[in-house]
Amino acid sequence: MLNKLGIYNIYDLITFYPFRYNLIKRSDLNSLMDKDRIVMDGYIENTPTLFRFKSKLDQMRFKLNTGSNLMNVTIYNRGFLKNKLNIGTYVTVIGKYDKIHNSIVASELRFGSILKDTIEPVYHTTYGLSNNQLEQYIKELLENNIEIKDYIPSFLKEKYLFNDKLIDIKNIHNPKNLNDLKKSIRRLKYEELFIFMLKMNNLKTNKEIKKGLKRVVDYNLVNEFINKLPFTLTPDQDKTVKDIYDDLVSEKRMNRLVQGDVGSGKTIVAIISMYINYLSGYQSALMAPTEILAEQHYNNIKNIFKNYNINVCLLTGKIKAKEKLEILKKIKSGEYDFIIGTHSLQSDDVEYNNLGLVITDEQHRFGVNQRSSLKNKGTTPDVLYLSATPIPRTYALTLYGDMDVSSIKTNPGGKKDIITTLKKESDMKDVLNSIYKELKQGHQAYIIAPLIEESDKSDLKNIYELEENMNKAFGKLYNIGILHGKMTDIEKEEVMNKFKNNEIQILISTTVIEVGIDVKNATMMVIFDSFRFGLSTLHQLRGRVGRNTIQSYCILISNKETERLNVLTKTTDGFKISEEDFRLRGSGDLFGLRQSGDMKFKIANLKNDYKILLMAKEDSENFIKNNDVTPYLDELNITS
Ligand code: ADP
Ligand code: MG
Repeated sequence: MLNKLGIYNIYDLITFYPFRYNLIKRSDLNSLMDKDRIVMDGYIENTPTLFRFKSKLDQMRFKLNTGSNLMNVTIYNRGFLKNKLNIGTYVTVIGKYDKIHNSIVASELRFGSILKDTIEPVYHTTYGLSNNQLEQYIKELLENNIEIKDYIPSFLKEKYLFNDKLIDIKNIHNPKNLNDLKKSIRRLKYEELFIFMLKMNNLKTNKEIKKGLKRVVDYNLVNEFINKLPFTLTPDQDKTVKDIYDDLVSEKRMNRLVQGDVGSGKTIVAIISMYINYLSGYQSALMAPTEILAEQHYNNIKNIFKNYNINVCLLTGKIKAKEKLEILKKIKSGEYDFIIGTHSLQSDDVEYNNLGLVITDEQHRFGVNQRSSLKNKGTTPDVLYLSATPIPRTYALTLYGDMDVSSIKTNPGGKKDIITTLKKESDMKDVLNSIYKELKQGHQAYIIAPLIEESDKSDLKNIYELEENMNKAFGKLYNIGILHGKMTDIEKEEVMNKFKNNEIQILISTTVIEVGIDVKNATMMVIFDSFRFGLSTLHQLRGRVGRNTIQSYCILISNKETERLNVLTKTTDGFKISEEDFRLRGSGDLFGLRQSGDMKFKIANLKNDYKILLMAKEDSENFIKNNDVTPYLDELNITS
């Protein structure tokens, strides 16, 4: 049963922290309202009466003398205690207060009094294992002389006046008072975040030492290529290209994140990087999250390099076995310079000849410990990530502490801003009219809902319900399709292609649509129950329209949190939006951006403990600067 909770050893058990606490405190009847939780102690005044209903159901009643008051207590299924409940026995009763009848419907009965306030730990448990048992195991364990490794360096313990770690652990499981409990929680959180930041910072420092590929590339050649493009790079694109060029020609291994809004032009930056890498004689791999995107990149890149002597291939799960073997052979022999594909590029059967650069597009989830694992001959390729969820620099520094970050803040001109409005469900007529206005002009619409199907647990909109409604409104005139995560990849692709070819005019979808497709003719995005999403997610969704010079619209439908959502009606700047997201919801969606494996904390929470994270960040940087942390980190890896 403990294993089910992830507990395999003593260390796991004592660091299995309560997820909340019950404050057990004698209730003050004067301030108690009807139906409130009540905790009351006193003497039993009369012999309890017991009623049995069925074999397993009973009800017991007695009067509790609190010294100032006589209360009626009712408790179910504790008949087996009757013999111990004599007149004069001192008990504590926990239950619900019935003010009118001055009585308690008890859920718990304890012998003796709770003289002082008690803080009771509450653990996540599993079937067959009670909170009490767990509490007992941990208590017994902590009575022994346990040695526990403290990962906070002593100078920091002094700085923050931290206790001995065991004291804090004891406090967490068996708190004596709230003040000490808070201090102990804070310290254990700090320690986790300190270790996390130490690992991140160490990766970064290490990386700078770690040798990458050294190249010699004439920037004039790069410039020539850039000048032949049908447009001029924006200043941010230009700066990012230079950052990447510097990384590539320097000896250190590149580990760079390029972040910029949807449509900011990250792809061309990636393509220029591939060209630089090509000029220095290496293969490049470009990995996209979906087959559709991979194909999009492939066609685009083939087109751009049609007059160059560069060989491009596409490798996705869809490619037939025989053809695939042929492609794999040519990758291995080095015949292909640019290899475009999905995650299949990482699979074991792909052997590269001399891979110099790996680019991951729209990949929001990078692991701290994740290094490019592509099978390569001898070399360590440089790594570039593209992310369409821009986050402000201060947060990027903590979240992506192990990477260098380039930001593309301005979108190439020519596109109109998407007009965003906020509507209530009662405005549905308006909304339908607005959709119709776009459809009439031959444009297409996305409609987003949080759920796939009806749920008895919530009354959020689901896509089947919307499909029915949209069919009623538009079914005679237009074709409607649905898209969601439970469909197979083939089904999804079929629907997407139909939408792309305008065989479907209204696409009803869950947020699976978030990553991906570029349908220039889609000009309307309607998002139901918008309050369910973070601003950054909504901004991403909105980015599916406005891919063209035609005016596009986004309608957010929500009956609540309108103030938060209003931010989106005022700006289309992804950096500002994520900043706002952070201000309003803690980190909002941002910390979903890293692979959750990195973020498995026992007690810390990046959303709520951001201030402690900042402390830990600074401290760990200083620690690394002034100490040799290798032995320290070695030890961390053993226990983690
Ligand atoms: P994203 O950053 O979302 O990946 P893309 O790279 O797909 O954006 O760029 C969106 C569109 O903008 C593409 O059609 C691309 O050709 C175009 N584009 C990119 N850079 C520029 C630029 N400097 N001037 C004009 N158009 C550009
Ligand atoms: Mg892109």
